[in-house]
Amino acid sequence: MNAIRKPSCAVPECVKKFIDVQRHFFKFPKKQDRWLQWVRACGRLDLEPRGPEYAHQNCRLCHLHFENKWYKINKVRARLHPDAVPTIFFGPGFQQQDNTAPEQTTQQNEENVVKEKVD
Ligand SMILES: [Zn+2]
Repeated sequence: MNAIRKPSCAVPECVKKFIDVQRHFFKFPKKQDRWLQWVRACGRLDLEPRGPEYAHQNCRLCHLHFENKWYKINKVRARLHPDAVPTIFFGPGFQQQDNTAPEQTTQQNEENVVKEKVD
């Protein structure tokens, strides 16, 4: 019996974009209000009629959608803060960044071009 399915992220763009990135997956919360936040945040409104139980069992989001203050990854596993809400998605304006979590409003942030001062 090898029915172990590889988890994949509930965000379709994410699955396509980050094939090689090592990811940690978090189950959808069961609590109605928090579950709804997740569903709406990731735009998977198709999950809404199915209810929290379904999403909890079948859907996951990867850690790329959470600011890093929300999760802790150690050698064994990743833990997500119970109040965590996914806020990082890859819309048209998304720019791939290293480890730096984007600010809440990233609008033409000139600061990521750091020029050395030349006298
Ligand atoms: Zn993802």
